[in-house]
Amino acid sequence: MNEPLLPGATLGVMGGGQLGRMFVHAAQALGYGTVVLDPDAAAPAGVVAHDQVCTAYLDPAGLAELARRCDAISTEFENVPAEALRRLAEHRPVAPGADAVAVCQDRADEKAQFVRCGVPCAPHAVIADAAQLAAVPDTLLPGILKTARMGYDGKGQATVVDRAALQAAWARLGQVGCVLEQRLPLRHELSVIVARNAAGEVVNLPVQQNLHRDGILAVTQVPAPDVDAVLQQQAIAAARAVAAAMDYVGVLCVEFFVLQDGRLVANEMAPRPHNSGHYSIDACDVSQFELQVRTLAGLPLVEPRLHSAAVMLNLLGDLWFDAGDVARTPPWDAVLALPGVHLHLYGKTDARRGRKMGHLTVTAATPDAARGVALQVAALLGLPPF
Ligand code: ATP
Ligand code: MG
Repeated sequence: MNEPLLPGATLGVMGGGQLGRMFVHAAQALGYGTVVLDPDAAAPAGVVAHDQVCTAYLDPAGLAELARRCDAISTEFENVPAEALRRLAEHRPVAPGADAVAVCQDRADEKAQFVRCGVPCAPHAVIADAAQLAAVPDTLLPGILKTARMGYDGKGQATVVDRAALQAAWARLGQVGCVLEQRLPLRHELSVIVARNAAGEVVNLPVQQNLHRDGILAVTQVPAPDVDAVLQQQAIAAARAVAAAMDYVGVLCVEFFVLQDGRLVANEMAPRPHNSGHYSIDACDVSQFELQVRTLAGLPLVEPRLHSAAVMLNLLGDLWFDAGDVARTPPWDAVLALPGVHLHLYGKTDARRGRKMGHLTVTAATPDAARGVALQVAALLGLPPF
């Protein structure tokens, strides 16, 4: 794409979840039209977009309609079939491209990509069949068996301590293609979000420090409180190198582990804005969703600036139930009485435990102040301290 698509053009997005919703908000703020393709008529992004194409992701008529209505198309989740993006790309600019998304859809390919870029990742073995399962080295145990495709929020994973447990877990996961990773001693978890345009320019958000509970992101803190500047620069350089190597166009998030011995190891990547970057809406002068719009439209990229310290808390469906499992509405009025609280709810009507219903970012002048308010919010909502 040579000429930028200026506001007034229409941007499409494959997928209607919360990431699509926040993309739509950012696109609309800049004056773009928006169309979402999602099979669910009540999808969080569909209800705020100018229009929705309500078909399956691979439906030829749906894809043709989206291409007809839009000047360029992005994706909001990595499990949109790469084939759908390939078909759209025959008619319209698509970013990120199908090949890059395909790499991120498969943990084995993703790890191979890290290795090619000289970015360390967890020792692992690819398991496609029973023979490969039998051949995994003892050094990978205890380990975590992960389905190669379609996993998220810790789903499709099992911790395995020995070979018997490995066999059983693989059977439970349906003997699909998997990756067995050595279970690493983690000190901290980080992520880095980069945005790259077709001209090869790259910008990044500041390094995020993430806390997971039960395999789901719970808390993101920026600036990262416990990680030194050298390691942060290493993470940024690695994320930029991976984006460049894939000739990536769009927003890319790379998740990292900091091990007990201080080493940095890449975990996985997402070809889209990421839950750990939601704080950027309220704490940066350019959010990850505006970066997605800019890369898709071919607008200039400017280095984002963090103007406030931030703590993001994920709001899972569990908050919509009291201790006796009775449905409740969380005490938003008390939460919003605290300074610097930005509440984002995704418009999902049925709360389920573990389901991402929204998030909340606390911004403040200093990291300590942001953390202090976030701890008060956590106490009001019944979330554990961090
Ligand atoms: P999401 O896509 O929602 O980020 P996911 O289901 O793809 O999650 P991972 O990121 O692979 O899952 O793992 C989820 C969490 O499990 C990690 O953030 C980390 O806390 C833990 N974990 C994963 N792999 C390892 C490992 N090799 N050693 C130790 N802990 C791990
Ligand atoms: Mg992850």
